[in-house]
Amino acid sequence: MTSEIINLIFKNNLPTLKTLEEKYPKRNLPDGAIVTRQGPSPTGFAHFGLVYAVLASRKLADATGGVFYLRIEDTDKIREVENGASILVNAIKDFGIKIDEGPIGSNLNDVGNYAPYTQSQRKDIYQALVKKLLEENKAYPCFCTKEELDEVRKIQTDQKLVTGYYGKWAKWRDASDESVLAELNKQTPFVIRFKSTPDENKKITVNDAINGEVSFPINILEDFVILKPDGMPTYHFAHVTDDHFMRTTLVLRSTEWISSLPKHIQLFEALGFEPVKYAHIAPIEKMIGSTRRKLSKRKDPEADVYTYLKQGYEPEAVKAYLLNLLTPKYDEYILGKNFVYDPNYKLTIDMLKGGSGALLGLQKLDDYSANYLAGLSAKEAFERLISWSEKYDKNLLEIISRNKEYTTQVLNIERENENPRKDLKKWTDFNEAAGFMFDEIYNTLNWELDSISHIDKSLAENVLTEVLSTFDKNDSKETWLQKLKDIAAQNKFALDRKELKNEPQKFIGFWADVPALIRTALAKKNKSPDLYEVMRTLGKEKIQNRFSSFYGLRK
Ligand code: GLU
Repeated sequence: MTSEIINLIFKNNLPTLKTLEEKYPKRNLPDGAIVTRQGPSPTGFAHFGLVYAVLASRKLADATGGVFYLRIEDTDKIREVENGASILVNAIKDFGIKIDEGPIGSNLNDVGNYAPYTQSQRKDIYQALVKKLLEENKAYPCFCTKEELDEVRKIQTDQKLVTGYYGKWAKWRDASDESVLAELNKQTPFVIRFKSTPDENKKITVNDAINGEVSFPINILEDFVILKPDGMPTYHFAHVTDDHFMRTTLVLRSTEWISSLPKHIQLFEALGFEPVKYAHIAPIEKMIGSTRRKLSKRKDPEADVYTYLKQGYEPEAVKAYLLNLLTPKYDEYILGKNFVYDPNYKLTIDMLKGGSGALLGLQKLDDYSANYLAGLSAKEAFERLISWSEKYDKNLLEIISRNKEYTTQVLNIERENENPRKDLKKWTDFNEAAGFMFDEIYNTLNWELDSISHIDKSLAENVLTEVLSTFDKNDSKETWLQKLKDIAAQNKFALDRKELKNEPQKFIGFWADVPALIRTALAKKNKSPDLYEVMRTLGKEKIQNRFSSFYGLRK
């Protein structure tokens, strides 16, 4: 192709390969240091699979003294949304995962020496390389219309041939300079295609760091598009260009990309670049009945990272869960330990091998998360609850900020001991588990009286009056219990199950009905954390108020 034609296609002041190589030099890092990245697209959605891959990338970089950077892959302008990049950056920050380089400054400005980290700002770099490929006769413009391409595809399908732009179907591959010039002069829209070199006797083989050797026959290779009509590169071209000039050493991405490897390897070769190493990881999947499928952004709320954060799963618990999805070794590691997330856990590529894929099982997340929350001190739990409610539950925030000290005491019920209570899996469980401790919430609850329906009003009033008058916050648990039993016995509740069974007419019920009654009056239901601690935390005044509203109810 003549330089006249090439200059018609590209402006003259594109950077040279030499300048680019100098501007983005090899990184000065210890041997074996992994430089890796994630390249999400700013579509307005932060996928759970992104945090999964980001965490793996971060850990692999950390284990080798390497670098993890973020690149915004916004070459598809149709799918892009405003603020798309900030949604991605914030999601990663919300999980507390550090990004070394990328559009991570206060105004999403670039931080790092390999900027720009947003593909749309790298147009000149891609075009400089495409130009070089044109000069070396490794690429060419194609002016086919969509209708023409559809027609070719239809004929190929009818004839049961491999579909695509190759061989005799590649109309513009060997077009004359005159015909190219004529279209350019008419300003016909065009793409640039890569000139593939099929070879019946060869295979492209890649040694994937996780999956081992993967080979592809290369008897039919399409002349795929590398530059789109708007002058932006396709994913394939951008990937090869960026990972070369950003000096990536390991591309960790989903196995969905394995089939594109022949394209990427050809591009590395044609450009004279050393190929990166690849590690393809299984995407997160879920079971629907007996079929297993990829998490779908459209169909599955679990695909959105904010589903977890909004529900109040702590990022640490989610990260522990993701490590467990990445490698079953993590679960073994954590077994018997009194924490679930170890920020210093070293993840290596070898640990990612041989798994059975990443199948979502939210019971595991609940277990990790309940353990995580149970392991926090009351003070830590309070801080987390505040920062969660600041973002996701303003109503609760208002209530607990008015009662800081008291909320910490509430959180301390059955906590900070050998065997802490594990009824909180996420902060949205707080209302159900402990909301009744706050008058504002207690007042909105409905009474559940079934378990005490055999106790009539005057008896209930007698019992509760005695409970209140003998209540002493400083009693030990034993004393408190003894007092309850005494009150029960005085009011004809059996202390012994056998006695009750033998002479049921002598008794109103079993002594445990008394704590059930108290619990119902205090919590409006017969379910609460340890009643002794609940009463001590509420204090006499609140107990009295609640008993009164209970009498009022039981007319
Ligand atoms: N933008 C691509 C995606 O979102 C990135 C794939 C890669 O990591 O190379 O799937």
